[in-house]
This record gives sequence, structure tokens and C-alpha cells, in this order.
Amino acid sequence: MSEPRRDCHGSATPGPRGPGRRLIAIAGNPNTGKTTLFNRLTGANARVGNYPGITVERTLGPLTLGVETFDVLDVPGAYSLVSRSPEEQIAIDSLLGRHGHARPDLVVLVLDATNLGRNLYMVLQVLEFGLPMILALNMMDAADAAGLHIDVGALERRLGIPVVPTTASKAHGLDALRTQIADALDDDPLSPPPGWRWTPTPALEADLAALVPHLETERPGDLGAPMPDATRAAALWALMSIDADDELEGIPAGLRLAVLDRLKGAREAGRDPDTEAVSARYAWIDRLVAEVLHRDPPPGRSWTERLDAVLIHPVAGFAFFLALMFVVFQALFAWSDPAITAIEALFGATGDALRGTLAPGMTADFLVDGLIGGVGSVIVFLPQIVLLFLFIGLLEDSGYMARAAFLMDRVMNKVGLHGRAFVPLLSGFACAVPAIMATRTMERRRDRFLTMMVVPLTTCSARLPVYTLIIGSLFPAGDVFGLPIAGLLMIAMYLFGTVTALLAAAVIGRTVLKGPRVPLLLELPPYRAPDLRSVARLLLGRVKTFLTEAGTVILACSIVLWGLLYFPRASPEAAVIEARIAALPSEDAPDADPDTRAALDAELSGARLRNSLGGRLGRLVEPVIEPLGFDWKIGVGLVGAFAAREVFVSTLGVVYGVGGDVDEENATLRERMRAEHHADGRPVYSPLAGLSLLVFFALAAQCMSTLAVIKRETRSWRWPSFVFGYMTALAWGASFLVWQIGRALGF
Ligand code: GDP
Ligand code: MG
Repeated sequence: MSEPRRDCHGSATPGPRGPGRRLIAIAGNPNTGKTTLFNRLTGANARVGNYPGITVERTLGPLTLGVETFDVLDVPGAYSLVSRSPEEQIAIDSLLGRHGHARPDLVVLVLDATNLGRNLYMVLQVLEFGLPMILALNMMDAADAAGLHIDVGALERRLGIPVVPTTASKAHGLDALRTQIADALDDDPLSPPPGWRWTPTPALEADLAALVPHLETERPGDLGAPMPDATRAAALWALMSIDADDELEGIPAGLRLAVLDRLKGAREAGRDPDTEAVSARYAWIDRLVAEVLHRDPPPGRSWTERLDAVLIHPVAGFAFFLALMFVVFQALFAWSDPAITAIEALFGATGDALRGTLAPGMTADFLVDGLIGGVGSVIVFLPQIVLLFLFIGLLEDSGYMARAAFLMDRVMNKVGLHGRAFVPLLSGFACAVPAIMATRTMERRRDRFLTMMVVPLTTCSARLPVYTLIIGSLFPAGDVFGLPIAGLLMIAMYLFGTVTALLAAAVIGRTVLKGPRVPLLLELPPYRAPDLRSVARLLLGRVKTFLTEAGTVILACSIVLWGLLYFPRASPEAAVIEARIAALPSEDAPDADPDTRAALDAELSGARLRNSLGGRLGRLVEPVIEPLGFDWKIGVGLVGAFAAREVFVSTLGVVYGVGGDVDEENATLRERMRAEHHADGRPVYSPLAGLSLLVFFALAAQCMSTLAVIKRETRSWRWPSFVFGYMTALAWGASFLVWQIGRALGF
């Protein structure tokens, strides 16, 4: 199997093409089986899903027919060629060969046979441009099962282009499709019968005529073939796409002005050119469908309809959704626990074994604490990430995720988020890194960026060990209303993160990322038994993303951090303790006292850490974090947390000299924290300080990997800087309020 080549979402440069190869573009509505067909034809392995909007990258693969090899392009799905953003432009740019895309020699338009009318809308648009095209009438199995009979011959005659019935998922009709593709490409140049299939109203025709000069003078031969119909199609595209607030790229200023002028004129005359074109096209399509489509009398409601009566019901559907989320999170924490423990034990044992074989010293410390410790802190996330993405994969493939997005759209829309932002936000509970990459299923730049800005506020799994430590050591064990305080606090922290993320979206969406709302155009696909291979593929993809994107950054940061907290080794404070250790009787002497030696050893690591660069940095930031109720030791922990949040726990462990292996010593760390007092005798850690710290961790952007991925996805430093800035300000401000108000109230 050959790996398909990809180029990134939104990019104008297509992937590497074979030299001199002709190009076949596979296009069509979302979720019609384009990628399945693409994989069948090219032997590639691109991701298939039962969730509209999976293919957002242009994927290229080879197809050999006879002696000639072609390049096949999997164009992202679209319902229409009309576009409002650079992302939506990709479909039309790929078909017309604009903006650096090569122009395809043949378009294979994939149709969902169970939804002929809506799918024909795009066929009509491609025909208007006069592009060479054949149709793959896919999902024939589903159409048969639904009692739909399509007269393929009549359809071919009326459209004037070849139509091949296929069932891509079962590889039916592929030979006929290959033959048809080869024939179409031999018939050089194949073009559909010229002429539009519908006649615009005189007023619309006048709009188009007014735009044609701008197309011909400013983009000679660029939009479509230099024939009147194609130019007219380009004019219609411009009329329906350009708007006062579109985000299109590469539109000549003259054309834009002319369109806005015509739109203004139409509004004044009480017309809407958009509606005129859409209804004229559909009138033609409706007549055609009436002619070629015959359906059996309905045998009763389908499974999908019956399930949907409950699952997208405003009340029952929501209740089911909440119950499902509860089960998912329950499983996420309960099931991952043994694996997490096992991984920690494995890395602990590996470190110990390695230390046993090495002479004590810097090399051993680096390998065990820096390297193995760093790798371990990456791997330990995998159980929760795997589980969460397994659930997401199953939900997506079964068709439920589209329902969840549909249900959540109402909530999401209130705060200005797109319905599809739901999946990235859910992923954020495992890790923000794959979650930010999951925003790619949203077409609009604004929707994607807004989601990225708030995903880091969802409670990722790295916050969990920190919450556990703080709650366990600083809050009294006990019950409120018969429920354990620790559990309630944990749930409260999850809710806090979620609500803040939604509020932040509402604010950012109305200020920094203002934009018009777009309705969620989401198809509800039929329910299907999940295809385990495609779920596994999603899972592997996300795990790989996590390891390569977040893992490398976490590892690098852990190593840098290890260095910061390790050097310099010598200090007057450490020298005193070293002298006391040296004065102890040797370890195998009869009067040796192992307890004293262990205590002094721990004190020595504490002294070294305090005097290390990181320790000094902690002291340096103390004045800034003091108003939040934190001391310099927490400052060192926060410096450490920047590599990865959970590092906070182990750093504090070292600060308090309880040894490196925090898990075994967790109880000790808790005791040490409770025993810690300010100079005036007040305890450093009170429940109030704990609350302030919890709030800080919930809101601060303490994650290098997240910032690095946002930089990569937005291709700018602006957005990661913005996330870092607003989250840090939010964290500081909120902790400040908690601590100061709490103190004023006498806590
Ligand atoms: P794309 O969005 O157009 O690329 O569609 P995909 O190739 O990702 O397929 C969407 C869903 O339809 C997947 O669950 C496929 O397994 C399924 N599918 C693809 N072709 C067929 C078909 O011919 N019949 C049926 N019943 N399902 C299909
Ligand atoms: Mg696809």
C-alpha cells in the first residue's frame, strides 16, 4: 500500500505530482464515500469516517489504467462550490485549477444515491463551468435497501455525461468506473454538452453580464475555460460568494466592488440573486429527480429514523447525551488507572535498574531523572488519550457524533462556537494537542481559531495529578451532604474548566475573533456499526500526533528543566550538609545510622534544588505570585510545570526533599506540605491556598506543547502569544481574587 501524499489544510500548493501525469479529481458532497473510493482506486490508506468533514487535507495518490498512470486527488467535501472562506475555496480552486492548484483533466463527482436531489446540486454547478466530468453514483447498496430505484440511463441522457453506479465500501462497480475513467480521458478533450441546464431570470442575467467584464479583463482565462458559459458561471460564483464579510483570498478589487455594487442594487430592488439562482437550479433538479427516481412505498420508519426520534429529541436526546458523557468519563478514569500505575512502575523500575548499573554521578542522574523520567512523563498520558480517542472514534463512526454536534450546536452557538467545536473540546479532556489538531474539521478559519483559543481551558489529563495532590494534601478528608469533599472538588474543577472555556469563547468570539454566525450545515448520517479498522486508524493517528507533537516538546522541556533544577550543584548551603554527611560513620560501620543518612541525603537534594537555577527562578517570581498566596517553593513547581503540568508534583517532591520517586513518597509529600509554616507561624498551605492553586492550574497556559501546536496550526506567533497572555492574566487575576477575598473573609 502506498502512503498518500498530503498537503496541509488551507494551503494553496498541491502536493508533489508525478511528472507529466494527468490529474483526476474526486469531488462531491461530504460523507458520500469519496475517500473510500479514492482508497479503492489508488490503494491508499486515507482516513474514512462517518462524520461530515473528515477530509480536510487534499490527498493525492496514483492510479494506473493500462499504460498510463494518473494522479488522483481527494478533494475535501463541499455541498456547493459557493465559498466564503479560503478553506471553502479549496474545493473550487482544486476543480478549476486556480491559486496554484493544477487543473484536473477529469472530475469524478461522487454522489450519494440515497440523496440524489441534494447531490445533483453540485453536479449542476460543475456542469455550468463546463468541466469534464463523470458521475460515480455511490451508496447503491443503501439506495437499494431504502427502496430507491434510479434510472441510470435516463440520468445519463438528461445530464449528457456518463454515470456509473458504485458501492465503494464493497468495491462494487469499480471496474466499470475505471473503464469509464479511461474512456473519458481517451476522448480528449471530453466535455459535457455545453450550455446551462437552467435559464436565469432577466434581472440575474443582468447581474452576471455586469460582472463578466471584470472577469475577462482582470483574470483572463483564469476562471474556467474562455467560453461564455464558464465565464458566466464564474460571474455567478462571484455573485454568490463575495460579500461584505467574506474571507476569500485572491479576489481582484474591481470584481469585489462590482459584486458589492450589484448586491446593493438588488437589495434596493427587493431581490436576492442568491435565492433566485438556488431556486432555479432546484426547480430543474426536482423535475429531473421526478423523472429518474422511483421509490418503493415506505416499509415503515427506518432504524435511523426511529433512533433519531429519541437521540436528537431536545429533552430525551440531551439526557442520553449527558448519560453517555458520564459513562465515557467514568470509564476514562476508572479504566486508565491500572495502565497508568503499570507505566509508572515500569519506568520507575527501568530507572532503578539503570541506576544500579551506572556509577553515581551526573550521567546517571541525567539518564534516570532527565531522560527516562522525561519519556515516562510523556508515555503516562497514553492510557487516557487512547481511551478517549477510542470513544471518539466509535462515536464518530457509528454516526452518533454528528447527533452530538447537532445537539451541542445550540449550546455552542450561544457562545459563538461552531457545532463541530464539540469534538475538539471533548478531546481537550485528554490532551489539548490532538484536540487542537481536531479543529481541522471546521471549514471556517474563524471557527477553527476560536476553538483553538479555548481548548486549553478544558481540563486535560495532565492537570489531574496536580489536582489530586493539592486536594489530597490541603483539604480535609470528609463528607459534605454525604459526598466526599475530594470527589466534589474534582467534579467542581472539571465544571469550572468547561464553563470558563465556554465563557472565554463568548468573550473572544465577540472581540478578538468577531465574525458572522454560520448555521451548522451538518448532515445526520445513518447509524452504522463502527468499522473497527477505521476507528483503529483514527486512534493510531491521534496517538502518533500526540507522541510526535506533544511528546517531543514535553521530552525536550523535561530535559531542559532537569538541567535547570540540577545545576549548579555546589553552594555554601549544600557544602554544610555534605560535610555533615561526610562526618557520618561509613555505611557498613557497626554504628551506622541509615535513618540519619537518608534524612541528610534528602536535605542535600533540597538544598541543591533551592540553589539551582530553577530554584533561583522560583525565588525571583515569588513577589509576583505572593499576592496569590504562593511561596517560592510553589514558584519552583510552577517553573517546572511549564514543561508539562504534571511535572509540578515531582518538582515539589524534590523541593521538599522527599526524594525523586513521588508516587511512593506521596504521603510524605503531603505531610511535608501540611507541616510547612511561614516565618510568622501561619501554615503555608491552607485550604484557601489550595483553592488559589487549583484555580491557577485550571486557568494558566502552562503547557509548551499546546503553545507549540497552536503556533504550527495558525502559522503565526500571534495566536499562541494571545493564548498565553490571556490565560496567564486570567489565572493570575482569578487566583488573586480567591486569595485576597478569602483572606479578607478570614479563611
Ligand atoms: P467522504 O466524506 O466522501 O470522503 O466519505 P468516506 O469515504 O469517508 O465515507 C463515509 C462513510 O460512508 C464511511 O462510513 C464509509 O464506510 C461509508 N461508505 C462509503 N461508500 C459506501 C457505499 O457505497 N455504501 C455504503 N453503505 N457506505 C459507504
Ligand atoms: Mg473524505
